[in-house]
Amino acid sequence: MDPKRLQLNLWTPSISSSSSSLEQNPYFSYCHLLSIDHKHHLPSSPSNLNATKGHHQEFLHLDLTLGPPPDPSSNPNPNPAVAAPTGRRARANPFQKLKGGKSETITAPYPWATTRRARVHDLNYLQSNNIRTINGQVECKVCQTVYTIEYDIEEKLKGIKDFVLGNRWRMNDRAPKCWMYPRLDNCKNCGSSLKPVIGKKRDINWLFLVLGQMLGCCKLSDLKYFCKHTKNHRTGAKNRLLYIAYIELCKQLCPHGPFHL
Ligand SMILES: [Zn+2]
Repeated sequence: MDPKRLQLNLWTPSISSSSSSLEQNPYFSYCHLLSIDHKHHLPSSPSNLNATKGHHQEFLHLDLTLGPPPDPSSNPNPNPAVAAPTGRRARANPFQKLKGGKSETITAPYPWATTRRARVHDLNYLQSNNIRTINGQVECKVCQTVYTIEYDIEEKLKGIKDFVLGNRWRMNDRAPKCWMYPRLDNCKNCGSSLKPVIGKKRDINWLFLVLGQMLGCCKLSDLKYFCKHTKNHRTGAKNRLLYIAYIELCKQLCPHGPFHL
């Protein structure tokens, strides 16, 4: 047999594209990443994408004209008889690492927060580590004065516990108005409302917000983030997600009850 012909036959599978390669196509991954994190600019920028596409094509060209016969054991196509429908080639997705780079594990933003997104330590851990108070920041939106507020964990938790256990039956899985529209302290400078400082989602001070009963100051997207990372439903109106967030945080603090029904 003609050696060139033989080489082409062997190589055909290696440039083939399985149906799953569509999802692994950098363009599709790029769109997906955009929807997840539009701030992830470096690797998912269009210029990088174009660079990758060019690189991709160069690889194809080399494979067809210059490449040595591939090692059959590394052939990604289990059926060598199936020819390639397009020029796309199944190969490692360069964006996969970045997508995976957004792991569930983060640097704990506070001593009372865990290294898992949207999770706080339970009361036992906090007490055995001598963490009895926590703090957080509130800001006046009018004069921009920032205040640090400290809460006694047990005292604040008792207030929430009493409220939840006394009213849960009539909440109907929805946050009541006092949770939806938190009562906020006033600025000592100008008398305006002091809102909690809520920055990047991964750094949200969840324990501070729940103990101050200010979770209602979160945006819907913050609550969706919380529900997503705590494996709760994240669809529905704000009062639904807010209720879930309150109960979930109480459960995280008191994993042995009484918030589990
Ligand atoms: Zn003020």
